[in-house]
Amino acid sequence: MSSDANTAVLRNCIRLPLAEDELLEVTAKAKDYAIMHGAAMRSKTAFSPDSLNFAPFVLVPSSFPRKEFEKAVALQPIINRLMHNVAHDEEFITTTLAETIKVDEFTANLFNIYRKVLAHGFTQAYSIGLLRSDYMAHVSEGCAIKQVEINTVASSFAGIATQLVPQQKFVLSELGHADKLHNMPDNNALAGLRDGMVKAWDIYAKPQAVILFIIEDVSYNICDQRFHEFYIRETYPHIKVLRRTLTEVHREGKLGQSKELLLGSQEVAVIYFRAGYEPGHYHSQADWDARYLMETSLAIKCPSIHYHLAGTKKVQQALAQPAVLERFINDPEEIKAVGKIFTGLYSLDDNEAGNASYEMALRTPERFVLKPQREGGGNNVYGVDIPNALERMSRVERSAWILMDLIHPPLTKGYMVRPGGDMPPQIVDMVSELGIFGVVIGDAEHIVHNYQAGHMLRTKLSTANEGGVAAGLGALDSPYLIDSDDEDEQK
Ligand code: ADP
Ligand code: MG
Repeated sequence: MSSDANTAVLRNCIRLPLAEDELLEVTAKAKDYAIMHGAAMRSKTAFSPDSLNFAPFVLVPSSFPRKEFEKAVALQPIINRLMHNVAHDEEFITTTLAETIKVDEFTANLFNIYRKVLAHGFTQAYSIGLLRSDYMAHVSEGCAIKQVEINTVASSFAGIATQLVPQQKFVLSELGHADKLHNMPDNNALAGLRDGMVKAWDIYAKPQAVILFIIEDVSYNICDQRFHEFYIRETYPHIKVLRRTLTEVHREGKLGQSKELLLGSQEVAVIYFRAGYEPGHYHSQADWDARYLMETSLAIKCPSIHYHLAGTKKVQQALAQPAVLERFINDPEEIKAVGKIFTGLYSLDDNEAGNASYEMALRTPERFVLKPQREGGGNNVYGVDIPNALERMSRVERSAWILMDLIHPPLTKGYMVRPGGDMPPQIVDMVSELGIFGVVIGDAEHIVHNYQAGHMLRTKLSTANEGGVAAGLGALDSPYLIDSDDEDEQK
């Protein structure tokens, strides 16, 4: 990789550009491959429940430093344990979110459910976390990975990302580079997450009970969800999967004698939330009541309310403060390793430290990203836009947000292919974000399952602040692992 901090470019997996006729042919094949293998989504602009578009993808896998990929994989069980311990630390969650919930209504609503559940005692001691820890390589630290965020709710793309590896291997082979396939790590994300849900179902131990997916009114990312559903059903035909919106759960759901969640006559063993992580998912108090009903039930939740709160940006910011990790991790080596993946994260609470971060953001906004307590993309404020945003907030309103150092990932060059895009696609400068999946199951005292479960890579135009795949700036990808001493990769 080049040494200049602002222009570091990772070596490509193969030499580009491709000749135009070859590019046209292989891109057309890759599009069909994607649709035929379910690397696809519903169109937002021309929605039809009867059709799919391929999900935006990068034609040839983007390079990622092997050492850093392996580091992220090795860290995942430690991160799983960390998040499990955080989720079960009532005092930490309560004090960390105390200021935030005064001004952030959505987090306050979640916290109120948490408080009510705590007051009555947890009906179900077990939780399942299907986590995704997201990273970018940071150029000015030799491309060391830095955590962008940790997701504890609706961690998506395990299903589709699993399909991307064979797709990009197919493309490389078509282009005559089958010798390079060994640098694309296998991806077991789909099986890993599916097995996690089934392990939770086993713990519930009722053969007739079902797995319930909580879904949005319209699921654009339908294939990713259906992969989980169909794969559960194919591998474990005795386990039924239901899909319901929050509103439907409110209408159909009730608690049985032992607080089991019943939808009609069907008992629910495991609830997998693919919705419920943003305000727009709750149309009325009825939807909040449905969330509470589920939280207070015997079903094993993914995530339970405490896991959901542990995944907030505010908690992430608190974890990155010196000495906080010691509360949750015993091994000094592990503390050091996790500490290194954090970049600067700063509170904006109305106190001395928060006000100092506020001043720092006004002085050098280009160094930062400003984040609210939201998931799902499109909510952050970047660089020069930060002073304006901050100045419009009152001192207390600021505590709904956190400030974070911008990570500067190295560039890669490649072809981004999206429905309705140019044919042939143009070569563009891109940056990638690696997600590592993890599964953790346990109660307050014990962890019974803890493993790393595959990965995903999302790549966006280098000029874009965010790379939401559905939003249109990002594309699905998978890592092509390179070593810093490789010199001959572009043959
Ligand atoms: P969300 O919950 O909306 O996914 P993220 O924290 O993941 O929130 O931010 C969304 C996107 O913004 C990320 O996928 C990444 O592209 C970009 N981003 C977030 N934090 C940083 C950062 N510290 N440096 C550079 N880019 C960032
Ligand atoms: Mg994110």
